[in-house]
Amino acid sequence: MSRREWPLRFVCGHEGCAETANYRYSTKRDMMESFELKHYSHGRWRCTRHTRPHEVLGIGNRETHAEIIVEQKPHGRYFGHTGFVSGPGFKVFADDLPEGAKVLVTATLVLPGEAVERELERREKGNG
Ligand SMILES: [Zn+2]
Repeated sequence: MSRREWPLRFVCGHEGCAETANYRYSTKRDMMESFELKHYSHGRWRCTRHTRPHEVLGIGNRETHAEIIVEQKPHGRYFGHTGFVSGPGFKVFADDLPEGAKVLVTATLVLPGEAVERELERREKGNG
């Protein structure tokens, strides 16, 4: 017995962008009542590149910064709606920290030629 799926597809609403998102539902009702249909239809879905373009690293955007702060809520400490945040090289639990603690995250893009220059500078300083 084959099961029918109800697919839903969106194209990024940013002019000229062809990125797509695909969702599948097991019933038509699930699809009709989905968050995606309610919030992304009529060109409202945006791809990663166009959701928060300032966070996408590239030649013209070489560094990004983010700051998250521990908040005390009735049932524990959180960063917004979550008690745990992670990224490459770090993991942090809000409950391990006092209210008001800040986590500062910086991502820096280093292009190949710059990586070689930085390594040479590092070696020169090491020998001097
Ligand atoms: Zn896009």
